[in-house]
Formats: sequence, C-alpha cells, structure tokens
Amino acid sequence: MKKRFCAALLSACLLLSAGACAPQREKMSDSLEAMDTFMTIEVYGASGNELSSVRANIEALDKRLSVTNEKGEDNEIFRVNQNGAGMVSPDVADLAEQALTLCRETDGALDITVLPVVEEWGFISKNYHIPTAERLAKLLPLVDYTQVSCKNNTLKLNKSGMKLDFGAVAKGYIADKATDILRSADCKSAILNLGGTIAAFGEKQNGQPWRVGIADPDNSATFMGYLSCKDKIIATSGSYERSFAGADGKVYSHIIDPKTGIPVDNGILSVTIISDSGVRSDGLSTALFVMGRDRAETYYRRHSGFDYVMLTADKKAYVTAGAAESFTVAQGYDYEIVRIS
Ligand code: AMP
Ligand code: MG
Repeated sequence: MKKRFCAALLSACLLLSAGACAPQREKMSDSLEAMDTFMTIEVYGASGNELSSVRANIEALDKRLSVTNEKGEDNEIFRVNQNGAGMVSPDVADLAEQALTLCRETDGALDITVLPVVEEWGFISKNYHIPTAERLAKLLPLVDYTQVSCKNNTLKLNKSGMKLDFGAVAKGYIADKATDILRSADCKSAILNLGGTIAAFGEKQNGQPWRVGIADPDNSATFMGYLSCKDKIIATSGSYERSFAGADGKVYSHIIDPKTGIPVDNGILSVTIISDSGVRSDGLSTALFVMGRDRAETYYRRHSGFDYVMLTADKKAYVTAGAAESFTVAQGYDYEIVRIS
C-alpha cells in the first residue's frame, strides 16, 4: 500500500506544468497495476494507439515473467522454473540474454537465479522468516547464473531445483519496450513511472528536461533530491521498498547477496542508476547495491554508459560525475555530497 502511495506521489511530482511559450500537445495518460506495483504512463502528442500498445506490452510481459501461476496461462518463467526448461517468447529470451550479460559483467552481484533463496526468506509468499544456516547452505548451490542457457528462444536450467527471477530487471525491460513503441510512433514526449523505474522520454513540453525525484529512504513518500533528465531511464533499488523485521530484531531487505544468500546489509539505503537502457539501469541498481560502496566505484570506473546516486545510512550521497550535473538535493535535506569521478 505504502509503495503504491509512493508511486502515485512520484507520478504527481512528474506531472510538471508545461511552459507557456511551447506549443501544447495533448496529454494522454493511463495507469495499471503490474509486477506487484502501480504504474503510470503519460504521453504527449500521441494518437492513443501507442498508449494501448504500451499497456498491452506491459500486461503481456507481466504474465510471461511471473514466478507464480496466479496470472493465468502465459506464465512462461513459472513453467521454466517448474520443468527446468521451456520455450519462451522472443522478448523474454531477449531479456534473459541481456540479463545474463549483466550477471557476467557484475561478476554475479546480479544473479537471475536467486529465487530459491528469495522464496526461502518469504519475499514471494510474504510469509517472512530467517532461514537456518543449513537451509541456506542447501539452496546456495542453486544460485548460479552460469548454469542457465538461452538458445533459440529456449531457456534451460542446468541444475534441478534452480529457478529464474527477473524481478531485478523486468521493469527496466518494460521501460525499454515502451520507449521503443513511443519512438516508432514518432512520439516526442512521455514520462512513465513503472513503480520506481522511470522512463523520461524526450523532454517536457516546454523544452525543459524532466525532473525525477529520488525517494528519501527514511520516508519514501517524499523526495530527498531531484535529477533533471532527458531521454534516460532512471531506476532505483532501495532497501526501504520491501523488508521485514526478523525475530532477532534486525531488518532484512529484499536485495540479496547471491554469494551468501543473505539480504545485503552494507550501509547502503538506495542506488539510483541513470542510463539509456532500462535493463542496464534496473539491473545495475540492484547489482551496485549488492557490491557496496567500494566495488560499485571500481565498477563505475571500469564501465561506461551510466551514472549513479548512492545514498548511505551515514547521510552521504555518492554522486558520479555525469549525475552531479543534473542532481539537486531537496530543501531541508543535509546529505554530504561525495563526487565520484
Ligand atoms: P530491484 O528492486 O530492481 O533491486 O530488484 C529486487 C528484486 O530482485 C527482489 O525483490 C528479488 O526478487 C530480486 N533480487 C534480489 N536480489 C537479487 C540479486 N542479487 N540479483 C538478482 N535479483 C535479485
Ligand atoms: Mg533493479
């Protein structure tokens, strides 16, 4: 509920007024629930057909990528997980290939086979509990993206009991697909809030960049800062999004270190990635969260094409050179900005 409220508020923030001098194009909007979150789409100067194509595309992917059978017949990933292999749609195969590339590039900080462990902590059933060390030791060998193959639209899991979960990249893929549809329809301006992953397509009607809020991790209904963006996909992974307090009093978040099977607890509260690719932004937001501050910096220096804002519990905002130009801290927040170059 809280998450939905945040998404709605973020959307409200994105409803920024158009300038007086630019020609006004008609705004069309839509909203839907998919991938366990609330999504809004606002398109300017569209015919309406692209809005329904975007919606149909999101709904189809939501069903195909579901890890449960609650969404009806088209649940391709649920079936692959049950049978250890299966044919999937070309777009699911495309996502799997892109995600596997990111798993390799991040040396397994992103691992799309983490589901057995995610389930064990109760993040799917919402029946949360701390697994025993023995149980985790049994499940950890199943977390190994190198044992997934994707050939001719067929996904295969090489170890019995392995399960795929595209939760860390799916909203980014939706953002990529939606912007492809808008681009081919010659649409010039749109803003999509896909539950924390934002597609800032083109620019605002007044020619200004879109202003995208970064949630305050202590109160995710408000923003601690803003990014000015044009033609970018912005994805945030935050420990505040889904977590539970264990019987030991500790808070466990839904972002898991695939090497240990334990929710990450490294002082990071959120990671926001800005790039041209939704899969990259979404995948890296999860991966850099897992890596922690130092490894994330090293990764940034070795790879190009993205920027980040990382918020830590000691009230620091680590901001890469490209993001620093477009990032402003909201009034009343006292984050110390640490520039990464
Ligand atoms: P995000 O909100 O994009 O960071 O994605 C988090 C979701 O991805 C979680 O709810 C899990 O379903 C899954 N997940 C958690 N940890 C990982 C990980 N290290 N690699 C891949 N997927 C993960
Ligand atoms: Mg992600």
